[in-house]
Amino acid sequence: MPRSPDQVIRPEVLALSAYHVPPAKGMVKLDAMENPYSLPPELRSEIARLAGEAAINRYPDANAASLKDVLRSALPIPDGMDIVLGNGSDEIIQLIALAVAKPEAVLMSVEPAFVMFRMIATFARMKYVGVPLKADFTLDVDAMLDAIVRHEPALIFIAYPNNPTGNLFDAAAILRIIEAAPGLVVVDEAYHAFAGASFMDRLAQYPNLLLMRTLSKLGLAGLRLGMLVGRKEWLTHFEKLRLPYNVGVITQSIAERVLQHHEVLLRQANVIRTERAVMIERLSVIGGIHAFPTDANFILFRVNEATQVFEKLKRRGVLIKNLNGSHPLLKNCLRVTVGTPGENACFLDMLKASLAEFEPASPLPSY
Ligand code: PMP
Repeated sequence: MPRSPDQVIRPEVLALSAYHVPPAKGMVKLDAMENPYSLPPELRSEIARLAGEAAINRYPDANAASLKDVLRSALPIPDGMDIVLGNGSDEIIQLIALAVAKPEAVLMSVEPAFVMFRMIATFARMKYVGVPLKADFTLDVDAMLDAIVRHEPALIFIAYPNNPTGNLFDAAAILRIIEAAPGLVVVDEAYHAFAGASFMDRLAQYPNLLLMRTLSKLGLAGLRLGMLVGRKEWLTHFEKLRLPYNVGVITQSIAERVLQHHEVLLRQANVIRTERAVMIERLSVIGGIHAFPTDANFILFRVNEATQVFEKLKRRGVLIKNLNGSHPLLKNCLRVTVGTPGENACFLDMLKASLAEFEPASPLPSY
């Protein structure tokens, strides 16, 4: 008798739950930090032409040289720094973890953070250490520095701004962490376009600093393109682990063309920033809601009976993210992506209608 999956699969993989993506067909979809806008019609026609002409019978350019050139000037990337491309930045996280995963090696992040940091530590057989943020979601620098001394992490991930809290951590505190870290520190700037702050200019100064970006939040989530920027002496080793054709022909061709019109994406990001301010203001006048400050394209807020509110919104056709129960600091927290003005108005109306079902309203507890 061959062995069953339970006997063959690694126990830590048996214990994992797959990254959950809920069905969203027909719903107002505000759960995944996507850009709600499509590209201008001329650019869409150009994309259709490029897709039609793409040599999909051939493997893609394994080095994506032409795309990297465009990225270099679009981001822009400092002279002397290299780029590794991934099938989304998720894949980059995995590449780095695989490269440093010596037996007993530690991957460290803050908690709550992007869940893939922890999951990928498990994939790569690394030990995960999550250092809790303070109750206001700022960095607990002393706790981080203590944990660095205690665990000597090979790899630290800090998202800037952080997901799911939305805030930018204090840059000086991050620099102290980079200076204290014995291994690599990766600053994950997935939400950079909505924040206007970056560690790109620090790369030259810190030999153990790497920086991640993605096109996903900028309006190209479906293309799957993430990137790592840093020194050649690190990136040459990650390149060895990258599967040769991880970025397809269509992704390379379309990303290259859209990035030649980078300003279109940045204009959309600016519209989202403006809408974010409107939404924060409207949320703040709804009784029983506490919205946290954000520098990303989403808003974390606390409400009584968050799970019920989430379900009521879902029944009304609005999908957001329920974080209640995922971490003690996120008790009764929900996360909503900033959508179009129409989607945001719909969300706010449905939120008010959902809250009205709880009358008489009980006061919001303080944490
Ligand atoms: N980093 C952070 C902080 C994220 O929130 C996400 C997506 N939710 C990613 C990385 C992954 O993005 P992608 O794989 O689409 O590039």
